[in-house]
Amino acid sequence: MSKLNIVLFGPPGAGKGTQSNFLIERYGLVHLSTGDLLRAEIKAESPLGKEAKELMDQGELVDDAIVIGMIRNKMEAHLDAKGFIFDGFPRTTPQAEALDAMLEGKGEPISHMLALEVPEAELVKRLIGRGATSGRADDKDEAIIKNRIREYENKTAPLKDYYRAQGKYTPVDGVGSMEEITERLVKAIG
Ligand code: AMP
Repeated sequence: MSKLNIVLFGPPGAGKGTQSNFLIERYGLVHLSTGDLLRAEIKAESPLGKEAKELMDQGELVDDAIVIGMIRNKMEAHLDAKGFIFDGFPRTTPQAEALDAMLEGKGEPISHMLALEVPEAELVKRLIGRGATSGRADDKDEAIIKNRIREYENKTAPLKDYYRAQGKYTPVDGVGSMEEITERLVKAIG
């Protein structure tokens, strides 16, 4: 059976993490979140974590080579997975190209790129709300939140065209109840 590899795409605060949790259960997929992997490195106080923390706390992207290496390691650790949900990765064109090269080598290309769409004012509201409980430095300060959204617009949003050219880009309305949004994603997966 062919594998189900999903890129769950969208700006910070779009609900990628929340929706990933539903989808991994429903389809039996492995969740690969580069943000979660980086936060685990910070917690472990590894050299990589220390390097990443400075950038993350400012809302800047971490180097492509670092996140690509982390994804490669995790994929190799789950060779028998039914498929993967990529959450927060790829965020740049070189990352998307590296992911395609890794998956094509295995004959298991990306099946869908699902892009959660949420207006900016709503994103800022959600992230500030999350900052009250997440303990994340990058959710606390409105200037840093705005910087993350700028990084998304400048470096990440162009990936819509990258996946559109492959016929895989599917926009999904990310405003509504959690259940409504899950339903839209499930329908898009088909
Ligand atoms: P997230 O949990 O996806 O919101 O990511 C939190 C932060 O981790 C981002 O603001 C970036 O600093 C960093 N990060 C996560 N994923 C990536 C990625 N694919 N490329 C570069 N930086 C990333």
